[in-house]
Amino acid sequence: MPYVAPIKEMLFVMNELAGLSDVVTYPAYAEAGADVDLVPAILEEAAKFNQDVVAPLNWSGDQNPSSWKDGVVATTPGFKEAFAQYAAAGWQGVIHPTEFGGQGLPKLISTACLEMVNSANLSFALCPLLTDGAIEALLTAASPELQELFVPKMISGEWTGTMNLTEPQAGSDLSMVRSRAVPQGDGTYKIFGTKIFITYGEHDMAKNIVHLVLARTPDAPEGVKGISLFVAPKFMVGADDSLGERNDIQCVSLEHKLGIKASPTAVLQFGDHGGATGYLVGEENRGLEYMFVMMNAARFSVGMQGVAVAERAYQKAVQYAKDRVQSRDLAGSPGPVAIIYQPDVKRMLMTMRAYIEASRALAYYAASEFDAQHASPDEAARKASQAIYEFLVPIVKGFSTEMSIDVASLGVQVHGGMGFIEETGAAQHYRDARILTIYEGTTAIQANDLVGRKTVRDGGAIAQALIGKIKETEKDLASAGSPDAKAVLKQLISAREAFEVSVTYIVANAKTDVKAVYAGSFAYLRLCGLVLGAWQMARALLAAEHLRDGDPSFYGAKIATARFFAENLLPQAQALATSILEGGHSTNALEVDQF
Ligand SMILES: Cc1cc2nc3c(=O)[nH]c(=O)nc-3n(C[C@H](O)[C@H](O)[C@H](O)COP(=O)(O)OP(=O)(O)OC[C@H]3O[C@@H](n4cnc5c(N)ncnc54)[C@H](O)[C@@H]3O)c2cc1C
Repeated sequence: MPYVAPIKEMLFVMNELAGLSDVVTYPAYAEAGADVDLVPAILEEAAKFNQDVVAPLNWSGDQNPSSWKDGVVATTPGFKEAFAQYAAAGWQGVIHPTEFGGQGLPKLISTACLEMVNSANLSFALCPLLTDGAIEALLTAASPELQELFVPKMISGEWTGTMNLTEPQAGSDLSMVRSRAVPQGDGTYKIFGTKIFITYGEHDMAKNIVHLVLARTPDAPEGVKGISLFVAPKFMVGADDSLGERNDIQCVSLEHKLGIKASPTAVLQFGDHGGATGYLVGEENRGLEYMFVMMNAARFSVGMQGVAVAERAYQKAVQYAKDRVQSRDLAGSPGPVAIIYQPDVKRMLMTMRAYIEASRALAYYAASEFDAQHASPDEAARKASQAIYEFLVPIVKGFSTEMSIDVASLGVQVHGGMGFIEETGAAQHYRDARILTIYEGTTAIQANDLVGRKTVRDGGAIAQALIGKIKETEKDLASAGSPDAKAVLKQLISAREAFEVSVTYIVANAKTDVKAVYAGSFAYLRLCGLVLGAWQMARALLAAEHLRDGDPSFYGAKIATARFFAENLLPQAQALATSILEGGHSTNALEVDQF
């Protein structure tokens, strides 16, 4: 089933919930030519490319994954040509600075483009996704010379980027990284070590690959404070951009995976033949700090992968539910009807739709906070937006990816037996979605971040600021006064109260009862996602009530979906709060030898 980008929905979220008209007026974006009137054309163009060129390769990538032979990786037929078109059309540069050849557009606009390429084909989209993160890390910390050497070619899509963190003994815990970087006295380093699970670590889609690598210098302190960041290209680069000899970085194998099969996941061996030449990015021992910039970008993007694959699974399920005829209508029909008339099938489709709309709205809202953080002319606003964006990143990552597995699973269920059979493609979305809660930090790592760095560290201040914003929306719902607004208000108040008591409990007990608090971290992440998603859905309802006459079908559906979310999904908030407040000790009750 072909992918159709939900452009009307995207524009609604951008305009009505994420403040697109304000974002484009920030001087940096206005200078780059950002304009509200241009956005629909950009989205149409992205939709056309992703629907026509990238989406048709999704199924073939699953059937004919990337392959390895003697260190050389061949990607799925068609990927190389599609990536060349992606690069030539300038899609890699949408968000990146104009002085390096990018378009300098807001993250809010690039987020919609990111959603489309990921809906079209998660495996394909991973290559530009990691390149974006690598560019961002170089722009944050590398010297002007290194930036000049690598960034323009990455933005143009001639070269791609990777992120080399993971080693066999160092996954979630990067303090255990062992790769070594030995200074050569000429400003370069020789890197030695094994990196595993490196996405697009080797491929045939670009002339060069720019690896960002975490490693330790000889006198580095133990733990995270002794990790430095290096950039090491596959082919050495001359001052005139010419490609020289092959660097000492070998792809020794590719992993065989449950999903995202077309994306090559490489084991890379650094330095087996004398050492891989690398350049220090920023200062020694500050690598993890810089890598966090890249990880934050990548974590947000992986959250968008969740929204994207869920949208694709939803579109497929709707189509199937309209086509498949089975059983009579409960209210009576002469013969069997399409299964979409069955209330339980509607329940599944509404659940999928409501989770997707809420997650998308929250992510786009976060993107606009990122834009304010970077481009608002008002310093206080920049700081406030930074805090909100950083609070939201683990939620966008953790909540949207967990929901994508649930949504893709419902997509299989809607198809019945045909969902379990590979030919329909529903199973591929389920398998593909399964990685999203694992890479770029598992959901547990996002939840730890949300509890520790984002909630406890500031005594719950940002969480309380968001609670204040929800209360403002509650007032707007009360003033709107429609039956839908009243129904949503009732549920939003009790869910917000559950969020509030959970924040208070976490802040009060994080030091004295740390294991109980962290036992509830996953529930807290889900609670935050649900309540903040419901808040965005409530705002969507208010906007849709004003706009309803312009398109009763579209806006009526927005209102009904917001109400469905509030009445059918949001009540989980109370259960999650119970688990957070009361469930920690029983989670930890068994001794290890009792398992
Ligand atoms: C397809 C794929 C692509 C990848 N791409 C890249 C890439 O491009 N670059 C790269 O560097 N890495 C990449 N990775 C690695 C990925 O980021 C790691 O797999 C991930 O961070 C988890 O690490 P791990 O696999 O070692 O699991 P572990 O860290 O061993 O975790 C195992 C389990 O323990 C839990 N756990 C661990 N520590 C804690 C904790 N402190 N609190 C609570 N629970 C905890 C985890 O949540 C998980 O459930 C990729 C992995 C895959 C599978």
